[in-house]
Amino acid sequence: MKIISVIGAGTMGNGIAHHFSLFNYSVNLVDINNKFLERARQTISTNLDRQVKKEIITQEEKDNSFNNIQFSTSFENIKESDLVIEAVTEKADLKKDVLMDINKYVSGTSIIASNTSSISITNLANAISNPERMIGMHFMNPVPVMKLVEIIRGYQTSEHTLNKIVELTKKIQKAPIIVNDYPGFISNRILMPMINEAIYALYEGVAGVREIDTIMKLGMAHPMGPLQLADYIGLDVCLSILNVLFEGFGNPKYSACPLLKNMVVAGKLGKKTGEGFYTYGNGSSELTVSYQFLK
Ligand code: NAD
Repeated sequence: MKIISVIGAGTMGNGIAHHFSLFNYSVNLVDINNKFLERARQTISTNLDRQVKKEIITQEEKDNSFNNIQFSTSFENIKESDLVIEAVTEKADLKKDVLMDINKYVSGTSIIASNTSSISITNLANAISNPERMIGMHFMNPVPVMKLVEIIRGYQTSEHTLNKIVELTKKIQKAPIIVNDYPGFISNRILMPMINEAIYALYEGVAGVREIDTIMKLGMAHPMGPLQLADYIGLDVCLSILNVLFEGFGNPKYSACPLLKNMVVAGKLGKKTGEGFYTYGNGSSELTVSYQFLK
């Protein structure tokens, strides 16, 4: 594989493009308008600079990587791709539309992957011809730092597709872990119920935000408490993944806490909106608790 296209230049898309570019792949990064592409260009440049500063890469490697990425609003550029990774917003209908477009441009043998956190790969594969070439490549955030790629084998994914993607993932020095295509895969099936339970404990007044997070950090050696992690992921994203688990299994144990639903409706989505369980953007490295539980 030589040419990789990434559709969607947001948080994940720019990280995926950045990481592949470091390994000398020719990368096409596509988004709907130039404003999003410009933001991605700046983010990638800043993140590469950070790697230079930390002496993970040299200035020359940064320059080469940056030159490996083509930014574009057109699908024309993706025609020659060996692999296209879809990383647009987590909405099944939108992803299917994008996959249908990808299908029109690339050859019938190009592999098509989705970075979805929770949507069924088997279902997404219905949007393309030759569904045996559809697979899940679930990168973790931030992509250049996190080692894991959860590889999701859809119902129709072929062994050929799987082997190619496992091999590629190892080449970019990530750890591929293969799972089957069931709601939430493994990562979010285990993570989201834990986050939901932390929110329930807060909602019921068992303990406050800082206490819950500190217990999980100091007691269970988690690098970040579940409520802070939820803020980082985005509370809207957490809610939509819990809804996928709830609908997929029909089991009430996955039903989202009313407090989480309330916060999403109120627009308190975590770090990206400046407020979730904590407040952000005041310049302090010490987190300020935003949500006060009722005694
Ligand atoms: P994001 O909102 O930061 O970025 C999505 C990008 O897709 C935006 O730039 C948007 O303009 C673009 N887009 C929307 N429609 C498009 C179209 N038709 N054509 C081209 N581009 C289009 O979202 P994100 O956090 O990067 O998430 C992307 C995917 O990665 C989702 O499926 C999400 O579930 C998954 N994911 C996210 C995380 C995370 O921590 N954020 C982690 C793992 C996986």
